[in-house]
Amino acid sequence: MSGSAVFHRDFGADYPLIVSAQGSYLYAEDGTEYLDGSSGAVAANLGHGVTEIADAMREQALRVGFAHTLRFETAALHDAAARIQSLAPEGFTRVFFASGGSEANESAFKLARQYHLSRGESSRHLVVGMWDNYHGNTLGALAVGGDASRRQHYAPMLPRTLRLPSWRDSADAMAPVAALEKLVRSEGAENISALILEPLVGSQLGAFEPEHEALRKIAKICRTHGIVLIADEVMTGFGRCGTNFAVERSGIVPDLITFGKGVTGGYAPLSGVIVSDPIVQAVRDSGGVFHHGYTYSGHPVAVAAAAAALRFYAERDVLENVALRGAELRSGLESLAARYPSAITDVRGAGLLLALELSPALTARGGANALNRAAMARGLVLYPGASTRADSRGNATVVPHLLVAPPLTATPAEIAELLSRLDGALRAHTD
Ligand code: PLP
Repeated sequence: MSGSAVFHRDFGADYPLIVSAQGSYLYAEDGTEYLDGSSGAVAANLGHGVTEIADAMREQALRVGFAHTLRFETAALHDAAARIQSLAPEGFTRVFFASGGSEANESAFKLARQYHLSRGESSRHLVVGMWDNYHGNTLGALAVGGDASRRQHYAPMLPRTLRLPSWRDSADAMAPVAALEKLVRSEGAENISALILEPLVGSQLGAFEPEHEALRKIAKICRTHGIVLIADEVMTGFGRCGTNFAVERSGIVPDLITFGKGVTGGYAPLSGVIVSDPIVQAVRDSGGVFHHGYTYSGHPVAVAAAAAALRFYAERDVLENVALRGAELRSGLESLAARYPSAITDVRGAGLLLALELSPALTARGGANALNRAAMARGLVLYPGASTRADSRGNATVVPHLLVAPPLTATPAEIAELLSRLDGALRAHTD
């Protein structure tokens, strides 16, 4: 099969045809076995071939394949919402569903705005985001995120947003906190609706966790000034970092939590917003209608996949596996860093969302993409990225990184195999 009718994202790339998958492995038509060291795009969190999830989806598709949530409910919808709500921090009482992470964030921006309207604060409309956070590719999410290469072509189409500097722009971990205080003064809190951040920055900075104190200060400023705090947990949610949600690590309490990816273990597109009670009540008290929704919000097969996946997370004690395999993977990556000091400058992250920061010197040799190709040639899939850092004179340096984020169900043997294939790729690439 040539795949010639597919509008690929990169027409110049090769796309091996995957014919089956099991556990942490994907198998291509030509017989190549790929170890899924990034769970796809950090989504296939429960590995491949989980029959409980596949069975639940099939059963749901046969029973009720579609029921529009504008008019109907399904038992699977209730089950998924109850399971998600029970994992969220205290005070989160309702779940709004969408399909992808970008849609979830767009929904959160609108919900924040509607919350303010319901309280008579109609001037609040601006959203604050951070450079070097990623919130999705739709225009609103792209506008508030900091992926320069994805933004550049669409810059004139992006709505105005407010910006905090990247966590890595300054040696001062509190610089974004000071920048937020300044923004509130210059723009006026009465015009600011929401602030969105990743509590542990995934793809843009490579599993970089801001200082907890800085996160807590940002949360406090938001609380003081009535700014809705949105924690984007699309990548980090459902155990990826060793806790159900990454906000538990710093103890910040946002007003909205967005999720996606791992909620179904990647078996179906599902995302959403977990909503804290004051926002639920404000919407209920002001007419009770959220002026937003999607055809596939709460799609029966997707929520059935989520309910089955979340049952699997709980019954198989996936969090415990994240702790054990996360420690093994981190220590293996640290050994590789010690062996390849000219290539690897940092190992970081939490749970099974880890990353290697690579030497800027590798940029001349194709950066993280080239190392990723070397890994692919050895049957290992990783998730390359890069951020740009400016020094005090404004000179920019591209800092590449590789996310290493295997399924949360990975076995000790799969972790060992991942490290061995990565070792081979590093040896080949740094020779
Ligand atoms: N937010 C974060 C933190 C993400 O990592 C991503 C995707 O990588 C998104 C949002 C966007 O999700 P999607 O690609 O499902 O729209």
